[in-house]
Amino acid sequence: MAAPNGPGYPDSYYVATAQGIVDRPALDEELTADVCVIGGGFTGLSAALTLAELGVDVIVLEAERVGFGASGRCGGLVGTGQRKDVLEMEEAFGLERSRQFWDFAEQAKQEIRDRVARHAIPCDLQKGQLIGVHKRGYLGWAEALVDALTGRYDYPFCRALSAEETREYVATEDFLEGLYDPEAMVLHPLNYALGIARAAEEAGVRIFENSRVRSYTESDPAVVRTDKGSVTASHVVLGCNGYLGNLEPRTAGKIMPINNFMIATEPLGEERALELVKGRFGIHDTRFVVNYFRLSEDFRLLFGGGENYRPGFPRDIAGFVRPYMLKVLPQLRGVKIDYAWGGTLSVTVSRLPHVGRLEPNVWYAQGYSGHGIPTANFAGKIVGEAISGVDNRFDAFASLPSTTFPGGTTLRYPGMVLAMLYYGLKDRL
Ligand SMILES: Cc1cc2nc3c(=O)[nH]c(=O)nc-3n(C[C@H](O)[C@H](O)[C@H](O)COP(=O)(O)OP(=O)(O)OC[C@H]3O[C@@H](n4cnc5c(N)ncnc54)[C@H](O)[C@@H]3O)c2cc1C
Repeated sequence: MAAPNGPGYPDSYYVATAQGIVDRPALDEELTADVCVIGGGFTGLSAALTLAELGVDVIVLEAERVGFGASGRCGGLVGTGQRKDVLEMEEAFGLERSRQFWDFAEQAKQEIRDRVARHAIPCDLQKGQLIGVHKRGYLGWAEALVDALTGRYDYPFCRALSAEETREYVATEDFLEGLYDPEAMVLHPLNYALGIARAAEEAGVRIFENSRVRSYTESDPAVVRTDKGSVTASHVVLGCNGYLGNLEPRTAGKIMPINNFMIATEPLGEERALELVKGRFGIHDTRFVVNYFRLSEDFRLLFGGGENYRPGFPRDIAGFVRPYMLKVLPQLRGVKIDYAWGGTLSVTVSRLPHVGRLEPNVWYAQGYSGHGIPTANFAGKIVGEAISGVDNRFDAFASLPSTTFPGGTTLRYPGMVLAMLYYGLKDRL
């Protein structure tokens, strides 16, 4: 259903509380720019803003609306570190490289804080995140992580929590232990995307909505075509992530689009809401198919849980997500669900981002595997900086190993469904 507050957007809590939706024109002429960015989510907008701040002439082409994709629909949790925690990163890459990626992740968080402050983005940025340990096999993980972060990463802020201490943060029996990170954050993701878009335009970026890119040439300059116009540009940036479709087969096989779902309850009232969750911080658990939740500014519970792996969403998204919420917070039985929506993200085999160059002038960043708020913002920034030649952090990301999903774009779904069933079973054991 189209949202009354913004035609072309889904009917989500975020759209209902959006600040700064403006209608932008569709491309209907032949233009030139230094860089053409495809996709108006965090990746594309961040790349565009970075480039414009460096004096580069940028056009963004968005198939639907700014923040239409995962960026305007997601949980809003801005996690610390990479999608793999430092214990996994050390095992995969050794301490030195793990520390390098930890530092990048800290820079990613700082970039969000800086942009919110610099551009006065009204995205309700709050501090704090609790991770709830859901199964006995993970007992001790929080303490090991806190020790590693304090001892090897100069990050003394996290606290490992017993079950009782965890319940001081969230009134759930579902968590056996917890980890509290006061420096992680949450935000209103659509308002953040809209704020970045406004900042980019103020810096000179031209953004076109309802302008789906149909093709681009492998040439220098490249010609990027929509149904009614084209942009001739020295560089192209692909920021389409889970919505890439068939636009670029060379990167499509490296990611798996996954649909994830959210609900927003009716306003619970401040007192009742704070009895459930003792603040405006974010929460997620250690399940492979993760549950995540937080209180909104008007004291609703925003809850995300459940996934599917095929094109199309369940007909009754509220009915699909509600059992996940009730498993964690059975106190909410009977509560009304005011909004239910889904979005598409993309995951990689390694759960680390897939960033690189297809041609000297064609750049891409995708596959943030559920950790895209900090990572997509950062990836967009480092792609922009690499195009301008002012920084080379891009090279470290581009050198991360990337694996094609078995079966490529046609046969990856059956394999993925089997893998997810396996991990879902592991979650329950
Ligand atoms: C329900 C849900 C919850 C999530 N929760 C969290 C969370 O709490 N924390 C977190 O860190 N991450 C979370 N994520 C992941 C995060 O939202 C994404 O990783 C991130 O937003 C990706 O940004 P992006 O710009 O790369 O992609 P998107 O925001 O998906 O943007 C891609 C854009 O490209 C456009 N596009 C596609 N093809 C074309 C074309 N041919 N021409 C023009 N435009 C095109 C699309 O319309 C879309 O607007 C969640 C994702 C979902 C779906």
